Amino acid sequence: MAKRRKILIAGAGIGGLTVAGLLLQAGHDVDVFEQAPELGEVGAGIQVSANATRVLRQLGVLERLEAVSVHPLRTEFRLHDTGEVISQIILGDEHEAKFGAPYMQIYRPDILRILEERVRELSPSAIHLDQALESYSEDAGGVTLRFTDGTTARGDILIGCDGIKSVVRSQMHGPEPANYTGNVAWRVMVPAENLPPDFQPPIFVNWMGPEKHMVVYWVCGGKLLNFVGCVERPAWKEEGWTVKAPWEDLKADFASFHRDVQTMIDAADRDNCYCWALNNRPRLDYWSTTRVTLLGDSAHPTLPYMAQGAVMAIEDSAVLMRALDAVDDIADALKAYEHARIDRTARIVDESTEHASLFHFESHQEFRDAFAKKDPDSDRARWLYNYDPLSVPLEAVDA
Ligand code: FAD
Repeated sequence: MAKRRKILIAGAGIGGLTVAGLLLQAGHDVDVFEQAPELGEVGAGIQVSANATRVLRQLGVLERLEAVSVHPLRTEFRLHDTGEVISQIILGDEHEAKFGAPYMQIYRPDILRILEERVRELSPSAIHLDQALESYSEDAGGVTLRFTDGTTARGDILIGCDGIKSVVRSQMHGPEPANYTGNVAWRVMVPAENLPPDFQPPIFVNWMGPEKHMVVYWVCGGKLLNFVGCVERPAWKEEGWTVKAPWEDLKADFASFHRDVQTMIDAADRDNCYCWALNNRPRLDYWSTTRVTLLGDSAHPTLPYMAQGAVMAIEDSAVLMRALDAVDDIADALKAYEHARIDRTARIVDESTEHASLFHFESHQEFRDAFAKKDPDSDRARWLYNYDPLSVPLEAVDA
């Protein structure tokens, strides 16, 4: 191992907790500062593919996640009104056999709780709640954080894992505009017990139609259906997972969809429907300075259309841990990490943005034509899922 460092992490989301756990396992001192008074994720699902689950295995949490997650056998792409399946991708054992680790669908509060447990096992005092970072300063000897309550902390390195509205990013690059993509996202959970007993439960379905699509899959061992809908809307709406909206608007948005979709919307938790704007942010051409770096959404916010945003944060975590292990000089290590990650994450950000158009065609035939061109066993799938952050080459780069 390279030198033991005192590493400060801003943000205890999936990225912050994963990198904290990996760095503690590698022998560093770690402090995580989270603005919220308690840890918790929004009640929604998250999909995690092999390129990230192999890292979660290394962190020692895969078995615990297996106990609460769902392993979908396949994902289907269906026409929104007729329900015709026009394409499918086999997941389950095949994904694991091909790519060396499982594909999992997890309730966000479960993954966050399990990551938090792991960090506390490794260092009971590592997580500091109710500590909102306001700014930082770096000098030759270290980095100093200033929190909104007036307290400070000092260490060797700062990792900004503070999400899409990152304070660390905005200090490093200046304030940036968020660009509205023209799409809003709906999120609601459907409790299994609300569904009619004779309802044939969907496995993992993408329902696609003109100007809108929705994705449903099970989480919590099959107790809850996770429902995410994306709708084109010219008007701007507030950004963020906790922006509530009326159930009646959700129902109206998907009124033209198949009767199975209506059954799910009717059974949804009507008092807890959320709808918010999906934004893009400018691509960064660097995200590390001498002692400060970014990780996850703060570095490369990603639209949800490929389900890879949190997966990228988990990949980042493993590569950063390895760079700090392999390279003694801090600035060189942060550059080696950034260099190893910047092209891959940029490609995934771009492909996720392009994917939006694949889900929104006017006619059935356009969908059939577009999906006929897709090869689920493509080089791209191998490039995406076979990536191993625990062994990807690290090159020395001049800081
Ligand atoms: P966040 O999860 O945003 O965590 C940031 C943390 O920092 C938070 O705890 C926050 O409170 C804290 N924080 C913020 N500011 C401060 C501060 N100043 N001081 C201290 N703490 C601070 N990705 C997938 O891989 N699979 C999916 O299936 C998937 N589905 C998605 C569905 C939708 C609808 C959307 C919108 C996104 C989806 N994503 C998915 C993307 C994924 O949610 C994000 O990429 C991921 O949560 C990013 O993790 P993060 O740790 O970088 O940031």
